[in-house]
Amino acid sequence: MKEFRGLITAAQARLRANDMNGARQFADMVLQSRGIRVAAAWEGVDEEAKPRCLAALRDAVAAWKRQLPELTIEVVQDPAKANWTIQFQPSVQCRGVQVAGITKWRSMSEGTIEIRTVLGRPYPQAHMCATITHELGHVLGLADHDDTDHLMGPISLAKRPAALGQHELNPLRALRE
Ligand SMILES: [Zn+2]
Repeated sequence: MKEFRGLITAAQARLRANDMNGARQFADMVLQSRGIRVAAAWEGVDEEAKPRCLAALRDAVAAWKRQLPELTIEVVQDPAKANWTIQFQPSVQCRGVQVAGITKWRSMSEGTIEIRTVLGRPYPQAHMCATITHELGHVLGLADHDDTDHLMGPISLAKRPAALGQHELNPLRALRE
């Protein structure tokens, strides 16, 4: 459901066109979600790798929470209380190609984020954290970016992952004003 990725862009375009109703509709799709409660799930992941994955997940959620304190986003233990599942697995495919992570919506406010646990060796924890932060950006309505210097850009193991920055936060904060 790729259409969810451009919600903020769509809202901004309506704002620029002075179409406040249209802008609000798109903004509401992002803002009126029932919050993001994520639970971890596993498929084919060694016990010893799980603490590292969980730490990356907690760090990613904390990064968003730190920047957008009003946002309801938390890690929950009970999958029944979660609206988002973050599933760690050795292989994540998008149209036949291995990717670091992918977000799959079930509805406006629920779905599964698949995170690949084997991405080069070792898959540094900072990169896994950045991948999860990136996918949560999609959940919040952000689209992909071409530049590896941006969090929403492609992940590169060759460099330090981009942090959550103004490029991602400004549009999200603008929608809350
Ligand atoms: Zn992406």
